[in-house]
Amino acid sequence: MTELRHTSGECTGNWRLLGTGRQRVIRCDRCEAEHPATAENRLAAIDENYAGIYLRRLAAEGAALDPPGPGGR
Ligand SMILES: [Zn+2]
Repeated sequence: MTELRHTSGECTGNWRLLGTGRQRVIRCDRCEAEHPATAENRLAAIDENYAGIYLRRLAAEGAALDPPGPGGR
């Protein structure tokens, strides 16, 4: 399975497809790591972006659904 590497291992940026024609690259919008936009890399980028969005949504919901403590409503 192809893995796109960020400049920093903990980067949570999104991969973006940039450029046109043969100059296309996939670049992270945070650490600016770049990879050639091969079909394989593009699929990997989509996978990673979905995983990132999912994790951020979970984190946002976790913050919103602060569980009531004992004696709460
Ligand atoms: Zn990155």
